[in-house]
Amino acid sequence: MIMGRLKEEIERLMEEQLRQWPEFAGRVERMRSQGERRLDVDGHTLIVRDNPARIISTTARVTMEAAHRDGSPDHCMLCPHNRPPEQRPVTWRHGGSWQVLVNPYPIVEGHYTIVSERHEPQRLTTDVIVDMLQLTRELPGYVVTYNGPRCGASIPWHLHLQAMPLAKVPLGSVVISGEDIAGGTLCSHTMLPLPCLVIKGGDNHAQRVSKAITELPNDDKTLEPMLNAMAWSPTGESEPVVVIVPRRRHRPSCFGTGPGQLLWSPGVIDLMGLVTLPRREDFDAVTADQLRQAYAEISAPL
Ligand SMILES: [Zn+2]
Repeated sequence: MIMGRLKEEIERLMEEQLRQWPEFAGRVERMRSQGERRLDVDGHTLIVRDNPARIISTTARVTMEAAHRDGSPDHCMLCPHNRPPEQRPVTWRHGGSWQVLVNPYPIVEGHYTIVSERHEPQRLTTDVIVDMLQLTRELPGYVVTYNGPRCGASIPWHLHLQAMPLAKVPLGSVVISGEDIAGGTLCSHTMLPLPCLVIKGGDNHAQRVSKAITELPNDDKTLEPMLNAMAWSPTGESEPVVVIVPRRRHRPSCFGTGPGQLLWSPGVIDLMGLVTLPRREDFDAVTADQLRQAYAEISAPL
């Protein structure tokens, strides 16, 4: 892959899919007109969006439940034979083989899903981290993200990443700060309203990220620790940066549809400060205090 080619190819793919796939174009249009609120949580400005399309359609849910029963490619919505016929891939190969797709239920404009060509479980191995880092180099201006199988990945039986323009998430406007420790490779910082690890570039970057992951608290050693991850190349820096957010639960205790509750399953984009709520009543009612409490519950201390 020639440098810069992937970015051009996926941006062309987005334009083509908007022209050729009316259902997708309609969802993007509705997303553009959705409500937006800004809430201050301890000095972090969170953007709260109302996005009803994120409640997956009943048909999709039936398929998902079948897949949950057997985890097989037969019911997997990321395997090519189950995708909408209009959906087109851009193939990208580095260590692994991947297909870049437009996210059919976008949270921001320019939202992609990057799907392994193999039906294999969601896991942030060193090989996957190597490919995430390469993607950040080939997609300047984008953040490449990962949801752990227990932390927001809706299809945990098929390995996938996401990518979106940094300019579309609050993260993009924040400068990393923090005190370096461990030989200048690892630091905690206050960019997000929750504890996280920043692992800066340099030698053996992917291996250092992997090592940091193995050292996170983990209640089930057969699975990877609960986490979300994001990687991007900061402007003016030659090496990408990786942020790992350790988690202790997927959903906050206020999860639900009753009075005072929120239908909110935070994934990596919510952790970047863009809170997506599929129910209008939650969007109207949510408070900064509620989000502060919810972030504290879902994140793990370092
Ligand atoms: Zn699959």
